[in-house]
Amino acid sequence: MNTCYGLTGGIGSGKSTVAKLLEELGARVVDTDEISHRLTAANGLALPAIQQAFGDTYLDKDGALDRAKMRALVFSDMDAKQRLQAILHPLILKQAKSDARSPTEAPYTLVVVPLLFESARYRDWLNGVIVVDCPAEQQVARTLQRSALDESMVRAIMAQQMDRASRLQHADEVILNDGSLEQLKGRVAELHKRLAER
Ligand code: ADP
Repeated sequence: MNTCYGLTGGIGSGKSTVAKLLEELGARVVDTDEISHRLTAANGLALPAIQQAFGDTYLDKDGALDRAKMRALVFSDMDAKQRLQAILHPLILKQAKSDARSPTEAPYTLVVVPLLFESARYRDWLNGVIVVDCPAEQQVARTLQRSALDESMVRAIMAQQMDRASRLQHADEVILNDGSLEQLKGRVAELHKRLAER
């Protein structure tokens, strides 16, 4: 089977950027956020269960999940969050595994999972985990620049995620993203070379 590495890191650390750079270098990327979007798009596999659990309130006019509305709900309602995750997580895991195990010409597969260490279900079938790391203040600044979230929201999300030190402790490889994009590109190219040669 193709060697599969997990790629994780806190919000705004640069996961998507690193995944895109590795993809350009030849890695096959399986992105669990993308899978989640597909599952919750109109006619997505997760919609019947979501509709059954939450009613039509959280669907938009096209019948897709209203992600903003649902995000607001699960942010303040732990029970709703758990119900949503109980529906989505097994479906995402199944799809990610099946995508990662499909044949490929790529030297390895990268499975992007924002909360990889927080959910035990990924560790056992991945050959290693790469962590994208940067100081907390950079995480905040980058996330604010990219999204509509305000600073208190970003910090609250960060507080719910694993802390930086623990994440680093669990890493097999670390990409430090504390400088320019050019610097990052150099570090990513080095990592790719090592992973592709294994
Ligand atoms: P994540 O996927 O971990 O949430 P992203 O890869 O989306 O993070 O990065 C967050 C934002 O920061 C994006 O707008 C991205 O272009 C920007 N960014 C990431 N790394 C750097 C860097 N080294 N220098 C400048 N901007 C960066």
